[in-house]
Amino acid sequence: MLTPFIDIVSQRREIGPAIDAAILSVTESGQFIMGPAVFAFEAELAKFGQAGFALSCSNGTDALTLLMRAWGIGPGDAVLCPSFTFASTAETVALTGASPVFVDILPDTLTIDPGHLVKTIEDLKRDASSKPKAIIAVDLFGQPANYPILRSIADTYDLKLVADSAQAFGCTLHERHPIYWADATTLSFFPAKPLGCYGDGGAILVKDEELHDRLTSLRVHGQATARDVRNSGFAYDPKYLNLRLGITGRLDTIQAAVLLEKLKIFDKEIELRNRVADRYDRGLVGAAVKLHKVIEGGRSVWAQYTIEHAERDALAAHLKSLSIPTAIYYPVPLHRQPAYAAYRSGPGGLPVSEAKARSVISLPMGPYLDADVQDQIIGAVREFR
Ligand SMILES: *Cc1c(COP(=O)(O)O)cnc(C)c1O
Repeated sequence: MLTPFIDIVSQRREIGPAIDAAILSVTESGQFIMGPAVFAFEAELAKFGQAGFALSCSNGTDALTLLMRAWGIGPGDAVLCPSFTFASTAETVALTGASPVFVDILPDTLTIDPGHLVKTIEDLKRDASSKPKAIIAVDLFGQPANYPILRSIADTYDLKLVADSAQAFGCTLHERHPIYWADATTLSFFPAKPLGCYGDGGAILVKDEELHDRLTSLRVHGQATARDVRNSGFAYDPKYLNLRLGITGRLDTIQAAVLLEKLKIFDKEIELRNRVADRYDRGLVGAAVKLHKVIEGGRSVWAQYTIEHAERDALAAHLKSLSIPTAIYYPVPLHRQPAYAAYRSGPGGLPVSEAKARSVISLPMGPYLDADVQDQIIGAVREFR
């Protein structure tokens, strides 16, 4: 291959020795669970993401699960989310016993369509079988959804607003992170995400201390937090006072140590990703492919650079013959997946999500993509019919 589809190794030329030293220091400390790096990382993450509080956790899926539990979402509740996303967005809702309800996306940015969202909420309100409780917007491929409008819709209908920013930590809209509008942002540090660790990891950003406290408890089996203990009079180790049903949802200290090092260069990497995206945008002007747009005032972190072509399978084969890897995110929207067949979609169905699933194709993307290699990729796309 000319380049890996997502190159997670080149970064080691920049900070490999620092990361290895950070891992080794955790190894030697023996503090594998909830060591000091976990708390240091949470503080840095909150600062970077302009959030009141950051709670690290085991992965991006558990981040959503913890939030659903913290808000008591369950049977009889409906949570609105896009169908054109990774499974976790809806899976975590369904596992609580609540129903994900699928909403279509906008054709140019591929984020949730606010107009269709409103129609779907109105449709749900006419039916007493489930009560809308929350909206999960997805910052697809690295760009922010339209949060100012989503916030006003959430306020109008008294719903929680979540930013599933698993692919998009660092994205901004008018220089503000999604948490400025959302009640909570969930993150994934899966290695292929723009800010990835050396295994699984995730986090939740929140504004309010009470929610942070509840999430802290749920992360470790619902055990009492310092605040709970003050109110309880319990005389034993608060670890063994279980106030809620929680999970094992901690981030490993080693992963926190890796992330602390990576966060130091993350701003620079976002800048490099934007340069790579600009080069694709300029190089593909006039080519027989549809390019996507970033919302006005938005800054993407470019988890993916995705284009569209009516014959995208043939385009993928053409690129493969030239040793250029590609990927399809996503070939089947969730409302067409067997696991989600029982859940409903908004009025009129999801024609945009279905059309995108047939035409999208993602090109190699990353902060260290070589300009000459990228020009070969651009040339190869341009020469395809
Ligand atoms: C990756 C991803 C997740 C899940 O993150 P994990 O860390 O893999 O559990 C959730 N939502 C979206 C949109 C994602 O892309």
